[in-house]
Amino acid sequence: MCTKRPLVAGDVIYAERPFIALPVKFYLTSAPPSGLTLEGFTQHAWKEREELLKEMIALLPPERQAAYRALANSHTHDGSGPLAGVFRTNGFGLGLDTWREIIPDIDDRDNRADHETTISGVCDTLSRINHSCCPNADVYFDMPSFSFVLSAVRDIPAGTDVTVGYCDLTDPAAARQKDLTPYGFTCTCVACVSPNSSDPRRATIAASFPDPKFVVRMWLMNVVLPDDYVIQDSQRMIRLIEEEGLQSAWCYTLHFAVLAMAYAALGQRENYLQARERVSALGRACNPVEGHQLMVSLPEFRNSRSSGGCGCPTMDGGGLPSSMRK
Ligand SMILES: [Zn+2]
Repeated sequence: MCTKRPLVAGDVIYAERPFIALPVKFYLTSAPPSGLTLEGFTQHAWKEREELLKEMIALLPPERQAAYRALANSHTHDGSGPLAGVFRTNGFGLGLDTWREIIPDIDDRDNRADHETTISGVCDTLSRINHSCCPNADVYFDMPSFSFVLSAVRDIPAGTDVTVGYCDLTDPAAARQKDLTPYGFTCTCVACVSPNSSDPRRATIAASFPDPKFVVRMWLMNVVLPDDYVIQDSQRMIRLIEEEGLQSAWCYTLHFAVLAMAYAALGQRENYLQARERVSALGRACNPVEGHQLMVSLPEFRNSRSSGGCGCPTMDGGGLPSSMRK
């Protein structure tokens, strides 16, 4: 997929309902023959899976059935069967937020971890998007429309290949290559060809996952720290993330939220608005549910006269004592 016009971070590129969506993990519905080896048991399970997928795909219109079968299949030699192979090659996870809408008490359940990655959906167009370890787009699942939504995570010039990440992008290059093996290609992106420089930087990014309210509150309470203490730290991480092309990582959005809250506390109106806009755009692109929660902590600017000051929000809802830094 290639862009025909320039895009900015947060732009929706494409939205699509999946052919099918079903659990990745599954339980056998028939007893396997006795005496099977582990390999034999696995083959029996894949045979059941293939039969289920045949019934599901048969419910689609003929042209959709043909489109599903035309997708890439990297599992042609492991006994998956052609339909299951397509499912394993092209699935997108629906994500935990989707499950929270279906099962409201999911966070209280002991087996939450199993649910987190259980459901996967296969799309006609979105499943064909190429991989990059420095992707310029991200996909999330929108439950109300039952659609996967592809959005830009950074500005994208016209004529650029749109890419997403197929694996955990903060893993070392060797681990990423191993995760990408089932897809049948070797990634040759700048991060994969320079692991000695990229791996430590990605490890630093992975370890930087700030809770914006907590970080800013701790800074506000410690008057010994410089006024730009958290700002410098988050700006440094934002530069590192941009240099690695990891704007799709959620910590990138969190660091802009830190900046916005710190600027509000310092009464820096223009800087606050710019950081807030980045949180809004990145939230739309990567994680609308958590993005909305962040935006609740970043209210609209108040009228400067009525607020009696520069107009910066006082973060009353977040409990941030902004006056300490003013
Ligand atoms: Zn790569």
